[in-house]
Amino acid sequence: MTSTPFKLFSSGLLLTGLVFSSIETASAQKNTFAWPEGKKIAISLTFDDARASQATTGIPVLNEYNVKGTFYLVPSAVKMQLEGWKKAVAAGQEIANHSVNHPCTGNFPWSRGKALEDYTQESMHAELTEANAQIFNLLRVKCEGFAYPCGNTFVGRGVNTKSYVPVVADIFATGRTWRNEGPNAPEFCDMAQLTGMEMDGRDFEEIMPMIEQARANGQWLILAGHEMGENGPQTTRISMLRKLIQYAQDPKNGIWLAPVGAVAKHVLTTRSGKTPAPEHGSLVRPDEKGNISLHAEAGVGTGPKIKFMPEWKAFGWFTGEDKVSWDLEVAQKGNYEVLLDWSVSDESAGKPFILELGNKKITGTVAKSGSWETFKEKKIGEVSLAPGKYKVVFRAATPFKNDALLDLREVKLVAK
Ligand SMILES: [Zn+2]
Repeated sequence: MTSTPFKLFSSGLLLTGLVFSSIETASAQKNTFAWPEGKKIAISLTFDDARASQATTGIPVLNEYNVKGTFYLVPSAVKMQLEGWKKAVAAGQEIANHSVNHPCTGNFPWSRGKALEDYTQESMHAELTEANAQIFNLLRVKCEGFAYPCGNTFVGRGVNTKSYVPVVADIFATGRTWRNEGPNAPEFCDMAQLTGMEMDGRDFEEIMPMIEQARANGQWLILAGHEMGENGPQTTRISMLRKLIQYAQDPKNGIWLAPVGAVAKHVLTTRSGKTPAPEHGSLVRPDEKGNISLHAEAGVGTGPKIKFMPEWKAFGWFTGEDKVSWDLEVAQKGNYEVLLDWSVSDESAGKPFILELGNKKITGTVAKSGSWETFKEKKIGEVSLAPGKYKVVFRAATPFKNDALLDLREVKLVAK
């Protein structure tokens, strides 16, 4: 045993080599994770407890910038601002679960009657399922995310202590903790224990080091707050949020600002190795019946926000400056009915679109489909095509700043 230190010392050169190679591996890995559109990091803005100031003050500010946050709700608090929360849902804010009773360690005097030390995995499972049911009854939203009240992840005490992370993993796609020291490593993180860094009571200058920390490793920074206002305890400052959003929306800063659910889906898709969308669309030709399917999967989305959403097989985040294009080749002359397969919320419907097929154009307005989750198919016009190659482009006919055009799944050309 006594010779061990000497051996270690004498092989110092080898150790140095090992240390270097592991650093190189780390730095090689840091840029390998592919955020959408070449972005460098992801940021999610999250808020807990369904505090009234979120519904009355904060969410309207997020809506102003067309930013979607993640809101972890306690159902009893939702009832106090029900109309505000319905508006939040309509605006596309992500609604998530924060339990019924907000149980934390009984060391907090207010949590003594609902102390995690007195919970079991079973009682926690029942409570979180109940919270989901109550939120669904109030807002017609099925929660896919959860935030651990107080960031505590245990139930029971002493030798009977258990983690309730497995309970959360069983019910939800994501679970966020609280007051962590760093952002999430997308290639590695456990979706049931995502880190959350506190943004309450801070100016933008105090948030910047967290952004830089995420940027150094291409990571996913989840910021967590409570009240939304300017002063007071546990308050995320609106002035900070405005600066942060403007910074994140400046393309040169390479930030993907999106709710937890959307980032988690992207991370899992990327990790699974399935390419979300082809980098260059494949050449589309008519099928044996002469019909042409210009499907989102075969198209190329270009623009500031557009993103292929594998779970819907459609392009979303379709703003006034985004477009989808396809390369089409037709061998014979044909006349076609043109159908659009799309979804849109009632609030976002009604914007004019244009479909260009070479030098031919079909225009219209995006009709209501019922919701973002409901896709519809409808005839938008007719076109005749001579043999040849075409660039087909779908885009907004008139530019607009905020909001979305539609989710686009397919343009169909049905031979007449
Ligand atoms: Zn809370």
